[in-house]
Amino acid sequence: MSISKRVSVISPSVTLAITAKAKKMREEGIDVIGFGTGEPDFDTPVHIKEAAKKALDEGFTKYTPVSGMEELKEAICRKFNHDNNLDYLPQEILVSCGAKHSIFNAIFVLCNEGDEVILPSPYWVSYPEMIKVAGARPVVVETTQENNFKVTPQQLQEAITPKTKIFILNSPSNPTGMVYTKEELELIGNILIKRGIFCISDEVYEKIIYDGEEHISIASLGQEIKRLAIVVNGVSKSYSMTGWRIGYAAGPEEIIQVMSNLQSHSTSGPSSISQKAALAALEGHEKFSGEMVAEFLKRRDYIVERLNSINGISCLKPQGAFYVFPDVSQIIGKTFKGQLVKDSVSLSEILLAEANVAVVSGSAFGADNYLRLSYAISMEIISKGLDRIAEFVKELF
Ligand SMILES: *Cc1c(COP(=O)(O)O)cnc(C)c1O
Repeated sequence: MSISKRVSVISPSVTLAITAKAKKMREEGIDVIGFGTGEPDFDTPVHIKEAAKKALDEGFTKYTPVSGMEELKEAICRKFNHDNNLDYLPQEILVSCGAKHSIFNAIFVLCNEGDEVILPSPYWVSYPEMIKVAGARPVVVETTQENNFKVTPQQLQEAITPKTKIFILNSPSNPTGMVYTKEELELIGNILIKRGIFCISDEVYEKIIYDGEEHISIASLGQEIKRLAIVVNGVSKSYSMTGWRIGYAAGPEEIIQVMSNLQSHSTSGPSSISQKAALAALEGHEKFSGEMVAEFLKRRDYIVERLNSINGISCLKPQGAFYVFPDVSQIIGKTFKGQLVKDSVSLSEILLAEANVAVVSGSAFGADNYLRLSYAISMEIISKGLDRIAEFVKELF
């Protein structure tokens, strides 16, 4: 079998192996605790499901325009105006099959073979693969825990070359949960403007934010940066709608139109029924997100405190999203029952085999020495899982 060069550059997901193993163990009757989940553990709100049922009953089951139905694009424009102080027109909006699809379209439309895309690590797992498959090169800038995992203006400056095309920003971040302040975004924005570099701003966690932190969209900082920004968002995380597959992008009309052309030859418009559901989500009350965030907040406080009480683990308090990203560098190099913990992948493997706890290794996000734990699981399960981790780590020292 001979597959194309274009796709052979894609790495298999590091997270997949562990997830598959955990699933197999569960099937064998082993009680595995999974901290791997990448989606909220809440049901989609009833009023959204009702809107989908109504669409179905009314026969709203045909193709919509490729870039999304007009009514939904108008609602997205109102959302940007209301939440982000951003004014877009419907022709500057593309509705895709998830935010992931919008990001993919944007990278494909902007990148030529050999272009460079600046990607701060720890990064979301799909970015480097999308960049590579588009023929471009990810230029990874390693952020540090001391800088709250945020790229500094100096780091950004140093990574720029004449080939730099895009800078990828993800705030609140998956996996670190960090949120960029307005001042930090201004400094970054000014560099991008000076060098004419596009910014893909992935804002899918904007509603999941704590401690009175404020989400700022970099595109809202002025007309010059707005002309270089592709803002990506969606309903998956905000309204617990991961399976509905609706995301969207906003940006300069000429770019959005080409993204729409690309989409027209791959998926066409997203599901008509899901679009009606997304419309209900955007136009409905925000009560759901508020309740979900209140629950996540309790879990975050608990998980951070428990992790920091374990000798050998240190964990920053995330300001958004539903993950913690603890530093486990003191555990790496230790041995558990004769097995060397040589890196974060081997730590996650030994934890699964010996403590029946599934976590994602930091190396999946470009940051060995860390683990990612999701707290989109019940308090009871979190507590039980942490008991096991604490017990396991005790054996190492
Ligand atoms: C979940 C996630 C997405 C994708 O969301 P969909 O709308 O479900 O495609 C994009 N970016 C980040 C950082 C995510 O965690």
